[in-house]
Amino acid sequence: MISVTKPFLPPKNVYDSYLEGIWKRQWLTNMGPLASELEMRIKEREGLNHLLFVSSGTIALQIAIKALGLKGEIITTPFSFIATTSSIVWEGCQPVFVDIEETSLNIDADKIEAAITEKTTAILATHVYGNPCDVERIAEIAQKHNLKVIYDGAHAFGVRLKGKSIFDYGDVSICSLHATKLYHSIEGGLLVTQDNALLKKMEYMRNFGFAGPERFAELGINGKNSEFHAAMGLANLDYLDSILVQRKKLTERYWLRLDKANLVSPVWHKSATNNFAYMPVIFENEETLLKCMEQLKLREIYTRRYFYPSLAAILPYLTPVSMPVTEAMAVRILCLPLYYDLAVEEVDLICRIMLNAKNN
Ligand SMILES: *Cc1c(COP(=O)(O)O)cnc(C)c1O
Repeated sequence: MISVTKPFLPPKNVYDSYLEGIWKRQWLTNMGPLASELEMRIKEREGLNHLLFVSSGTIALQIAIKALGLKGEIITTPFSFIATTSSIVWEGCQPVFVDIEETSLNIDADKIEAAITEKTTAILATHVYGNPCDVERIAEIAQKHNLKVIYDGAHAFGVRLKGKSIFDYGDVSICSLHATKLYHSIEGGLLVTQDNALLKKMEYMRNFGFAGPERFAELGINGKNSEFHAAMGLANLDYLDSILVQRKKLTERYWLRLDKANLVSPVWHKSATNNFAYMPVIFENEETLLKCMEQLKLREIYTRRYFYPSLAAILPYLTPVSMPVTEAMAVRILCLPLYYDLAVEEVDLICRIMLNAKNN
């Protein structure tokens, strides 16, 4: 069986060595030393000034929306994971969908202004598969209309744009450290901002608003993460470079083998690095996609239609709206298996099955 993703696990003795410290200190959660160390190590690695380790990418999105005091309408993309949209609704705001670019599959910045009303307070865009949005154009629009910008960088760990971490763009960027993501702490998320005051506010919010044992500075929630999760994050961090090398190698192998298959990948941002977080392929039509998917499934190889269908069309708590580019692209995209210990021979097998399916 080959699944679409498989979480990386560090050697067990590496994780155990962190556990020993936890047993010695008996400090299990609440901004413990491992959680602080993880924040520091990620800041160092990515060249970031401010960052908070929280319990999930979703809680990071919710805290970001709350901390920025957003109300009314938030412009967002229908081509993302459900949490991007649901967090907006959860925080009592109205998502307003803007269609995506056919090339990058990110929100189409040229279509944002037409969706702005007097109720619009922010833009929440996803760097889909880790591929950066047109952050410069979005910043211009936000500045002109006095809007906040949040980036859902759940897929984007490690990506750099023009020499800076992708998380350094926007008012707040979030990342997910969920087990299915490129780099993980089992469950977990990151909140990143350049704004010191906003960081402080989000830090209070992460911990019920506590500003001392008997004092509250803000409305808060429990967004803290544990020492056990931080330990996994720390253990995995030392393997991240080899994980990236391996994923790059596997991605290149896929495209070598699929060269003649009439498939394309989303167009990557010209000035950004790639983190090889996913292996998305765009088919010429849905019929061929389904044929390949089915043939792979017969051999117990599982792919994922990520993201299908359009979030603008299927949520029971929102009135459906038509997003033509999203709908046209969502039916043609399939994510192929990609993880650290996927074998080159397995990639070759997947490609052979796909080429066969396509030619029959
Ligand atoms: C995974 C994901 C999230 C949610 O992150 P969790 O850590 O699972 O809460 C949000 N947005 C996108 C685009 C994701 O892929």
